[in-house]
Amino acid sequence: MNLQSQAQSTKQNYGSDPLEVRDTNHYQSEYIHPFVERWDQLIDWDGRAESEGDFFIRTLREHGARKVLDVATGTGFHSVRLLRAGFEVTSADGSPNMLAKAFANARKRDYLLRTAQADWRWLNRDIHDYYDAVICLGNSFTHLHEENDRRKALAEFYATLKHDGILILDQRNYDALLDHRVEPTHNFYYCGENVRATPEHVDESLARFRYEFPDEEVFHLNMFPLRKNYVRRLLREVGFQRVTTYGDFQETYHDSEPDFFIHVAEKR
Ligand code: SAM
Repeated sequence: MNLQSQAQSTKQNYGSDPLEVRDTNHYQSEYIHPFVERWDQLIDWDGRAESEGDFFIRTLREHGARKVLDVATGTGFHSVRLLRAGFEVTSADGSPNMLAKAFANARKRDYLLRTAQADWRWLNRDIHDYYDAVICLGNSFTHLHEENDRRKALAEFYATLKHDGILILDQRNYDALLDHRVEPTHNFYYCGENVRATPEHVDESLARFRYEFPDEEVFHLNMFPLRKNYVRRLLREVGFQRVTTYGDFQETYHDSEPDFFIHVAEKR
């Protein structure tokens, strides 16, 4: 099936053995229309805005960023927040379904998104500009199943940054899951009230999550469980000079187990 028909299908297709699906291109057929339509129920814009506070806005301002490329726009939550805060934003994503939803969400709030459909591995084929910051948020980088794809994507993010630009990239705390420090039933932070997001299977190269909605509709995502220090190492290896990692939006996170890590990688 080509990318367009994958995106238009109404059922996710993981074949006869879903645990075998560990393929970077598969995100196109995971973000099918019905799942994208429910995504905002999952991420709960208001709840999420409250738990994040102004972390990203403050971090961007501290680094003097004005012009931002959101490479994992999804349904537009961060693009809209940043536009509202006065940043100049370009909203990219590899999924046409997500971009269409983001555009509509922004329109409802009186913003016009500048969108670009672009896969991270070939980002600079479609994005011909330089940015103060690239953001890749909402546990998106985990969609890359091969190390080569991760290196390639990070190199593309690096290349579209100005000489003093920053990349902000977040990830779930997979270490806690892999090392059995949290219960699989644990509900993760940006999750709407009636939605259950639980890891159905976790091994060193697959985290398969199940998303259950109130109408009993169920979707899945097969992701690569990124260890925190591995991502930090990759960021340095592609050339970022300094990487600061926050746990749940705080610099000191030793006391409790954070749900999310946020890496701020500086080019200069
Ligand atoms: N940032 C949004 C949020 O926080 O709600 C969306 C997060 S969603 C988990 C991941 C997004 O990354 C999806 O919109 C998906 O289409 C996009 N994505 C995954 N792999 C990609 C790739 N290789 N190139 C471009 N976009 C990709």
